[in-house]
Amino acid sequence: QFDDMIYVDKLATVSEMAASFAHEIRNPLTTVRGFVQFLSEDTTDENVKKFAPVILEELDRTNQIITEYLTLAKPTPFERQKVNIDDVLYTSVHLLSPLGAMANVSLQLYTEGKSDVYGDKHYLKQALLNVIKNGMEAIEYGGVVTIHKTVNEKEKEVIITISDTGKGMTEEQLKNIGLPYYTTKSKGTGLGSMITARLIRQMGGTITYESRLNVGTTVTITLPLYEGD
Ligand code: ADP
Ligand code: MG
Repeated sequence: QFDDMIYVDKLATVSEMAASFAHEIRNPLTTVRGFVQFLSEDTTDENVKKFAPVILEELDRTNQIITEYLTLAKPTPFERQKVNIDDVLYTSVHLLSPLGAMANVSLQLYTEGKSDVYGDKHYLKQALLNVIKNGMEAIEYGGVVTIHKTVNEKEKEVIITISDTGKGMTEEQLKNIGLPYYTTKSKGTGLGSMITARLIRQMGGTITYESRLNVGTTVTITLPLYEGD
């Protein structure tokens, strides 16, 4: 198990700078995206029709990278409150399903038991999207990402497992996952897992990875059950 806190400290100064750049870049990016979208809907030009989706996709990717850096940079103002984890899971799956359909990956969600956790809704979603997306990206020629949510009343925790039928990880990869900038993907940032681990821990949860090469990976996340009312 790695300790991401050391790296978080080292990144602090760089992160503050990154955050201000990111904000500045984001606004024009949003404007450009809006205009490209508008142009592509309002044209008979075949070239525009053909290339607009590519432009939009690349803009979205840029935005995603900025989001990851921003999360790293921000001192994460947490709002811990009662969150219906099923809602967050459904939203996440819903958001990623179109991407899955394109990649021949089906997402399956099973939930069982009382579903309120004590956490931050926004960051929970971001953490889950990171993990589910990694599972999807690990699948090369079609497969399944299965998400199970159960409750352990005794331990007062919710357990979420995200299993994929992807390519799995070597010992080396398992050791390095979560270190800043560690990625095996040509278009990866190597920040997702680090951010995810930090977010989950800040919410009083845990995250662990189990993997078998060429078989798949299971990520287990626990979160504290909400105990008020
Ligand atoms: P990125 O997705 O940008 O590469 P992450 O921090 O999300 O960054 O993941 C780091 C690395 O961990 C990935 O590049 C990949 O090698 C490995 N990894 C993470 N999740 C999985 C998974 N479900 N199956 C296989 N490898 C994974
Ligand atoms: Mg990732």
